[in-house]
Amino acid sequence: MAISADVIIAGGGVIGTAIAWRAAAAGLATVVIDPQAGDAAALVAAGMLAPVSESLFGEDALLRLNLLAVARFPSFAAELEEATGRIVGLRREGTLAVAYDPDDHAALARLTGFRRSVGLDAEELDSRACRRLEPFLAPGVRGGVLFAGDWSVDNRRYAAALRVAAQAAGARFLRDRVSAVRVGNDGAAAGVRLADGSEVDGAAVVVAAGCWSAGIDGLPGTVRDAVRPVKGQLLRLRCPANVPPVLGHTIRALVRGTDLYLVPRADGELVVGATSEERGHDVTVTAGAVHDLLHDAMSVLPVTSELALAETCAGLRPGTPDNGPIVGPGGPAGLLVATGHYRNGILLSAVTADAVAACLTGEPPAPEWEPFAPQRFGALARPA
Ligand SMILES: Cc1cc2nc3c(=O)[nH]c(=O)nc-3n(C[C@H](O)[C@H](O)[C@H](O)COP(=O)(O)OP(=O)(O)OC[C@H]3O[C@@H](n4cnc5c(N)ncnc54)[C@H](O)[C@@H]3O)c2cc1C
Repeated sequence: MAISADVIIAGGGVIGTAIAWRAAAAGLATVVIDPQAGDAAALVAAGMLAPVSESLFGEDALLRLNLLAVARFPSFAAELEEATGRIVGLRREGTLAVAYDPDDHAALARLTGFRRSVGLDAEELDSRACRRLEPFLAPGVRGGVLFAGDWSVDNRRYAAALRVAAQAAGARFLRDRVSAVRVGNDGAAAGVRLADGSEVDGAAVVVAAGCWSAGIDGLPGTVRDAVRPVKGQLLRLRCPANVPPVLGHTIRALVRGTDLYLVPRADGELVVGATSEERGHDVTVTAGAVHDLLHDAMSVLPVTSELALAETCAGLRPGTPDNGPIVGPGGPAGLLVATGHYRNGILLSAVTADAVAACLTGEPPAPEWEPFAPQRFGALARPA
């Protein structure tokens, strides 16, 4: 039977599924196509909603977008919880960034100066004040900074709730691989071709296949060239049952020059991450990465040695040359791109869904999206 829809979404990760929910809720017949169950990177991610502690020199436009994203997240999550009856675990305690040695402390001070200079909240704390906030921190920690503007969410619960909400709103999920975007005689997108050669018709196609977006024919070459996989390895530790969680805040630590984060959940899980590796599509969990993450975690939070090692995992962030997402119309009329969310795909999922739903219904997306259009990587030739 021939399938057709108003909107076809290639990729059912957190981005494609968030878009599917908003598109279906807007009354559009929506089909999500993914060869897997979806949520590839979202199942691995730590769930930080961290515009402040992720902000770096030279990424002002991304900071503005991330601030829009964190401001939008609570109402989006509340609507999601109401639509599904599921709790997604939004937490607003802030991030405590700590420094392990004097060089780490100097590096943290430089970053804090920059963050203050762009108007972000940062409360400097000495070692004792850090341990008053988080008593399990190592006494040797040099000091830290509380970034109150960072939050977190339980990304696995969040991704699962998005799928339930999208389905309840009427979106259909097909287990298949999109091989190409099809273009009609009028030069506009007409649907997609699947791996077995069959076709799905639709006047709008959204490519949201994360780091695999580059493999979909018909996407403009400049966009395909811009997306690459960046491997991240991460651990999930677990506190013993009936013992309170060992952390109240997300901790970002600089440990002998290496970045580390520890993200607590209310249920006693503690996420420890992450590596950042250029290894193509490899998702092997390596002994060295597990060793290094545990070693650094024990340096700042010795009690981690007592916790159960519940899971090791690796995922692929969809990276881009400027670390920003690629969202908006690209190539033929009706083709939309929503990829390249790199380290912030959970954070950006709600505002990406808003932006794509706006494009689909003829509204302008928020101005913060302007610097992240697909055209920034060069003129977009019409796909063959
Ligand atoms: C270790 C790690 C930690 C992270 N921590 C955070 C964090 O704390 N906060 C945060 O905001 N972000 C974090 N991220 C980033 C975030 O997880 C990603 O940016 C986000 O999940 C990307 O979602 P996506 O839907 O674009 O891509 P993906 O999750 O990669 O999903 C893409 C989907 O497309 C499907 N697909 C592939 N090819 C095709 C095809 N040809 N046709 C159809 N479908 C296809 C795949 O099967 C997959 O389901 C982290 C990522 C990693 C790896």
